[in-house]
Amino acid sequence: MPLGIESAPLINLRWIVRLRWLAVAGQIATIMVGSRMVATTIPEHALLLVCALLALVNGATQLWLLRGGQPTERTAGLHLLTDVTALTALLALSGGTSNPFSLLYLVHITIAAVVLPARWVLTLAGAAALAYSTLEFLPVTPLDLKSANGAILEQRGAWIAFLVATTFISTFSFRISRALRKREIELSRARAAAEGAERFAALGTLAAGTAHELNTPLGTIAILAGELIDQLEGDRRDEAREIRAQVRRCKEIITSMLAPRGADIEPEEFALDEAVTRALALWQDGRRTPRPDFNIAPDAVGVKVRLPRHAFEQSIGNLLENAAEATEGRADCSVRITLVRDGDDLRLTVADNGVGVPEALHNRIGEPFFTTKGPGKGSGLGLYLARHVVERQGGEMLVTSSEGAGTEVVLVMPEA
Ligand code: ADP
Ligand code: MG
Repeated sequence: MPLGIESAPLINLRWIVRLRWLAVAGQIATIMVGSRMVATTIPEHALLLVCALLALVNGATQLWLLRGGQPTERTAGLHLLTDVTALTALLALSGGTSNPFSLLYLVHITIAAVVLPARWVLTLAGAAALAYSTLEFLPVTPLDLKSANGAILEQRGAWIAFLVATTFISTFSFRISRALRKREIELSRARAAAEGAERFAALGTLAAGTAHELNTPLGTIAILAGELIDQLEGDRRDEAREIRAQVRRCKEIITSMLAPRGADIEPEEFALDEAVTRALALWQDGRRTPRPDFNIAPDAVGVKVRLPRHAFEQSIGNLLENAAEATEGRADCSVRITLVRDGDDLRLTVADNGVGVPEALHNRIGEPFFTTKGPGKGSGLGLYLARHVVERQGGEMLVTSSEGAGTEVVLVMPEA
């Protein structure tokens, strides 16, 4: 079971406990009021004793759950069976099947059918049928509802019982199945996240392999550039120097991919605005256009997040690169970065007025290796990395884009 997701039997038993508190309260009220209305003598004390026992069982179960008890399907089944037994005891003491509340067996059977596997449903339906039949054929004194007070019960008893059963069945089956559905969604989310992490690890292996392969040709280029520096003069020589410097930079990047420092993958706490400023400065270095403006809301200044810092800064570089490429050649190109606080989250937006993404491709953005850039230009990993970095820490990435008008990438990150 992924961390933080409750087991189905735990959800079920918790609802059974809630249902039973209501049932016990209802039973006590019915005994107090009902015994005054019927002419038959009803063993009030015995009835209240059954209720007390049921309340005791329920209190103990609730305590057990609070202390971290882990129920199974069997536990839930046995509890419903206990309820059927208690109801049978109550009915046996109060008129058997002539008691309109004998309808309440249906509540337990329905709940079993909603939450338990077939064998438990059969067991409970069988137990309820057996109990009802026994009550029907046992010599139990039927309730005498003909007295003056009981007239209302005679006329309306079945109606009241029907309303009670309907309310219980609809509310509890609905609530339980809703809780279970919510859990299913959480489970599939957790599964998707685990798959994402796996794919990311595979990608890491692939990147490391590629980096390793690139080392050799880069080494050759560096040596050849060195020879050119010795042979050439003037401007040409400077260009050869530049080639060697750029190759060194490539080798540095590759080294960092091959041997990620702990800081590259391990999340750490840092002030988001400072990291973005740093990534922006690094990206801007040596570039003239565009010059993104960075707007930090006053309440977001210095607010910390917990992320793998290096990968995050790399992602910001990627987003800026995408924005720059999308706005390339536009006279009025603008790239805006804004950081605001939104409750417990920080929202970092990178918006541009570039070419945008065609509608048909929207759902593919952020997929690994999805790129519209030519071979050798785009890797299709920039947005994927950005999404992965924030999602792994409980955040999300939202992309909105309209073709020809621009793109907005929002990273939502929980505050550390
Ligand atoms: P790459 O840049 O290597 O192609 P990315 O993951 O960074 O990979 O982006 C994937 C694709 O998403 C890009 O090829 C591009 O089509 C689209 N895209 C991303 N950012 C923008 C942007 N700011 N404007 C327009 N298209 C974008
Ligand atoms: Mg990119």
